[in-house]
Formats: sequence, structure tokens, C-alpha cells
Amino acid sequence: MFCAALPLAAAIVRGPPILRYGSAAIDTRGAPSLIAPSSVASALEGTDSALDSMDLAALALDGSFRPTRGPDGRLEPVLTLPGDSLETTPPMGAVTVSSTAATLGVVALAFVRSGSPLPPLLGVAAGALLGELFSGAFHWATDNYGRLETPVVGFACAAFQGHHLAPWTISHRSVFNNVYKIAGATLPLLGLGLALLPPSGAACVAVMFYLQLVAQESHTPPSKLPEWKRRLQRAGVALPVPEHIAHHKPPFDKHYCILTGRLNRVLDSEPVLLWRRLEALVYRVNGQEPLSWKSDKVRALALSLWPARRDAAGQGKFRDSE
Ligand SMILES: [Zn+2]
Ligand SMILES: [Zn+2]
Repeated sequence: MFCAALPLAAAIVRGPPILRYGSAAIDTRGAPSLIAPSSVASALEGTDSALDSMDLAALALDGSFRPTRGPDGRLEPVLTLPGDSLETTPPMGAVTVSSTAATLGVVALAFVRSGSPLPPLLGVAAGALLGELFSGAFHWATDNYGRLETPVVGFACAAFQGHHLAPWTISHRSVFNNVYKIAGATLPLLGLGLALLPPSGAACVAVMFYLQLVAQESHTPPSKLPEWKRRLQRAGVALPVPEHIAHHKPPFDKHYCILTGRLNRVLDSEPVLLWRRLEALVYRVNGQEPLSWKSDKVRALALSLWPARRDAAGQGKFRDSE
């Protein structure tokens, strides 16, 4: 329901319409045509192809986009938010560099002030774990609730929900353009951490929030990434592309963690089912249904779990199961 309220009319369409829906006529001028000579190249091509299929499936969700393919074979960017831009400006760089410097400063301060390296090391490790969890929680919340008009977080809600409709666009952004809003949000939070927590606790908070800046390149075809970034993905230090592709399937109800994706298997499986339980809790508290409940199967699962209301199934709100 919120998807329909997104400002899609503001989508920027570049170039003449080449892609036609229904007949699925796709202009493939400039598309990669590499015939892989090795298994590594073959795997890369396979992941590139899976990413492209995901983008085309996203196009089918909204008939108003007509992106053409650029010289490198990728779909041209489509912007779904008013005032959004692919431009990189000096303030974007400045706020991102400031956030990086502040985070490093907070972590360094923890080591300087601590009598032993153990507490700050534990703080950094806990920050990494909590950062993964926070990425999933924030992603789940913005994917499922709110819209552009929602106070404070409306832009983030619309951005995450719009990302499902034009997922390839993020791969056209520079790092600064993509992360400067998150970087700006980290600065006051770092200050709060310093003011309220011991040095190692502040380091934990700093790492947790700063890591939210790194989840971008799971939408760039691996063949277009430098080898060192592919190594990070293969090692599970960065989010592997296939792990994130698994999220981009309606109703977008799983695989919310986007730093490394390592927690997803636990959080999405029985008996944890964290996101369904949180949805059941929100529904119990205020009756609001998440966008993932567009799937009757997801809705029924959530309402079958604690802490859903015991009488939820008897309220006649279940639709026909899928
Ligand atoms: Zn999402
Ligand atoms: Zn994505």
C-alpha cells in the first residue's frame, strides 16, 4: 500500500524508451558479452546475470520506468525520490570524511584511555555484531513501515522502499553520494556515545553506526568490481551479491541484514523468525500491518507467532492463503 504512495511520478527517465513491458524487448546494446574462459570468470558472469535478472524483475513491479542500457550494459539510473540526485558535492565528501575521522578518533580514544586493550577490542567487536543487527532492524523497519511524509525517517522509508523498484540505481552512485546522509546522522550519535558511555562503550556505538556506511556494492555486477572488493565479498567480510539478491524478492520479507549477511540465516529461520515476531508485536501494539504482509503466507506466519494477539486469527482478517 505504501509503495503505491511513493512519489514515482518524479522518476527520472533517461534516454528513449527501449524496454517494453509484456513483450520484454530489452535493448542489450553494450551489454557484457564475455565468454568466460575459466570457472572464476564463469561464476562472475553467473552472478552478473542473476543481478541483471533481479533488476528486470524489479522493473516488472512498476510499469512507469523505461530505463535504457548504458554503454557498460547496466540499466540507466532511475530516481524515485523528489530532490534526489546522483551528483557528488564537496559537502557530501566533507561529512563522510568527518564521520570517518570521528569514528577513528572515538576508537583511538578508547584505546588511549583504557588501561588494557581488551575492553576497546571487545567494544569494537560488539560494535561490528550490533552493526550487523542494526542494519537488519533499520532495513526491516524502513522497508515495511512509513512513507515519505512520515516525520524524521520518511525519506529513509521512501528510499528503502523505492530501492526495491529500481535496485540498480544505487550502483550508479558515488560512495559519497550514497552514504553522506548516514554519515551525517552518525555524528550526533557519536557525540552522545562519548558523553554518556565509557570510552569502550562509545567505541562500540561508533563502530555500530559507522558500519552502516558500507552496504552499497552488493548491487554492482561483480565483474565490474576490483578484485580486492570481490575478495572481501567472497570472504564474507562484505555482503555477497547472492545473499542480497535473496532479499530482492517480493514481498521482501527476509535477508534484511546488509553488512555481511551472516546473521540472516539465524534471524530468518525457525524458531527465531525475528522479523515476523517484531511485525506481530507492532500489530499487537497499534494494529499496523507491514508491507511484507501483502503476502498472506507471511501475514499468517507472523500472526501464528508470539507476541501476536491470541485472537488475531479469529478476527476475520486472514485473506486467502497463497
Ligand atoms: Zn529492502
Ligand atoms: Zn538492495
